[in-house]
Amino acid sequence: MTNAPARPSSDTQPIDAVIVGAGFAGMYMLHKLRGLGFSATVLEAGSGVGGTWYWNRYPGARVDIQSLEYCFGFDEDLEAEWRWSERYAPQPELLRYANHVAERFDLKRDIHFHSRVTAAHWDEASQFWQIETEGGARYRGRHLILATGCLSIPTDVTFPGMETFKGPVYRTSRWPHEGVDFSGMRVAIIGTGSSAIQSIPVIAEQAAHLTVFQRTPNYSMPAHNGPIPQADLEAWAKDPRAYRAASKDTIGGFQNEANTTTLATETAPEEVRAELERRWAWGGFRILGAFADTGIDPAANRIIQEFVAEKIREQVADPAVADLLTPKDHPFGTKRPCVDTGYYATFNRPNVSLVDLRADPIVGFTPAGISTQANDYAFDAVVLATGFDAMTGAIDRIDLRGVGGRRIKDHWAEGPRTYLGLMVAGFPNLFTITGPGSPSVLTNMINSIEQHVEWIADCLVSLNQRQQTSIEASEEAEAAWCRHVAEAVTPTLMPQANSWYMGANVPGKPRMFMPYAGGLNTYTEICRQVAAKDYEGFVIRKGDRVLSESRVFTSHPPMPEIPEKLMPIVVERLTAAGLMPAAQ
Ligand code: NAP
Repeated sequence: MTNAPARPSSDTQPIDAVIVGAGFAGMYMLHKLRGLGFSATVLEAGSGVGGTWYWNRYPGARVDIQSLEYCFGFDEDLEAEWRWSERYAPQPELLRYANHVAERFDLKRDIHFHSRVTAAHWDEASQFWQIETEGGARYRGRHLILATGCLSIPTDVTFPGMETFKGPVYRTSRWPHEGVDFSGMRVAIIGTGSSAIQSIPVIAEQAAHLTVFQRTPNYSMPAHNGPIPQADLEAWAKDPRAYRAASKDTIGGFQNEANTTTLATETAPEEVRAELERRWAWGGFRILGAFADTGIDPAANRIIQEFVAEKIREQVADPAVADLLTPKDHPFGTKRPCVDTGYYATFNRPNVSLVDLRADPIVGFTPAGISTQANDYAFDAVVLATGFDAMTGAIDRIDLRGVGGRRIKDHWAEGPRTYLGLMVAGFPNLFTITGPGSPSVLTNMINSIEQHVEWIADCLVSLNQRQQTSIEASEEAEAAWCRHVAEAVTPTLMPQANSWYMGANVPGKPRMFMPYAGGLNTYTEICRQVAAKDYEGFVIRKGDRVLSESRVFTSHPPMPEIPEKLMPIVVERLTAAGLMPAAQ
């Protein structure tokens, strides 16, 4: 460690940590490391802080976990001085918050904007990362911390003839900073994931006509946005620390009344209904935690599917349109559910129409609009809400090379392999914040980010105190973690969907369930135990001398108990996946 407290004046001076990305993860990492006396520099591709909330400026963009929980808790004063205007803050407010955090902690002086990292090579001789940006600037970092986001690189979906289209084509994730006025325009939107589901109602209010091109419908629950519920506000105000701790001590990193014992299939139908209604009325993701079996047992899942289908029919006047909007190809909750404000009702508007791309696929763009097999449509503007190369996209795009020049893309050829979703074998001193193999996208990202940042900071302090220069996940521990990630998700219905969690939305991407489904609370405990066992599963060196070496991963806390009735399904799935020996 250099222990240099001040910012290096020259870009090739050694820095303790080069952090990539100035979203919430990169900002907190910088603040945390600076506070501990490390030198740290953030390289950010954009012109401002905020990550997701900097890039995704599409109309209707807002957080879908309650803002009281989707904000930093690491600083009590910061928490006390900020007031959210709504239950689910809109994008501009989240961006203001990100800037407030940056200014409050004077972060921008250590952030280089317009600095997209293109290459990072581990130099074995010096034990430093050599980092290069698109503009040719070079940095030397003892540690490289990727805070590059899970959903930051849009998929490069294009259509034949797209370049001939006379109007503008916008991507929701690269929205113009000055905004877009669709008044009087005929607008097309392609995609019906969360980004589209949030933007469709808002664009529909402005446009002369909006045509929604849907390939696969998604489940969406009402946000019931409005003032923050009084009960939550009071619980938070009474003891913000306890409120935050309660959020973190959950599977999803937010308070969701998860029921881990009651089975929908063994509960009287009227009680099931009442519970689902209560949670639907509360809004957002609360319905996900209603029963212990809906994520595992197809019969239980069908109960919730039918409930949501009924809700769609209630909201959409035309039964044929309601049917088209109802998912049929994946169980509820196996793709990331959406949270909306007026999505389904938007299809009752006279200026909104729905095109079913399964029945009538897009052939290509024309100068005037879009042609499907059966129709030609004229548009003034097109919006692509076609998703992201999730979890690995931003990392893959860096020419990242570890020991012996091994490329991360080769190491991940069959899917991302990590230890704890934090480090990669053969890539010393490389940390990923909310990387593949961590709970990340299955949780409240901010709480996951705080846990990762604090774990990484503790790790760097520990290395520094013992004058150690590198830490690297062992191959054995990485393999054991990958197996554990598979064990956590295999009992569930999640691998059955063609979701971006599985890499299924990017042609050629290996199919593998990428996030850790064991829950943030379990995961936090695992990480704590790993560190407490003097970094179990890691090889720690000073120069080329191995100072401590652990190649095992044994820190499995007991997994949450699975109700007895579900055990046959769980055993069958684990056995089929080769994760459990077949019964003799
Ligand atoms: P997404 O969920 O992956 O949705 C992409 C949509 O585009 C899908 O409907 C997909 O259809 C469609 N699509 C892709 N390629 C297509 C093609 N060639 N032709 C026609 N349709 C095509 O992406 P997203 O909506 O941007 O959301 C991604 C994730 O970002 C969300 O799941 C969520 O985690 C996060 N997000 C969060 C918020 C929030 O917190 N408020 C808001 C927005 C997004 P298929 O399903 O058929 O592939």
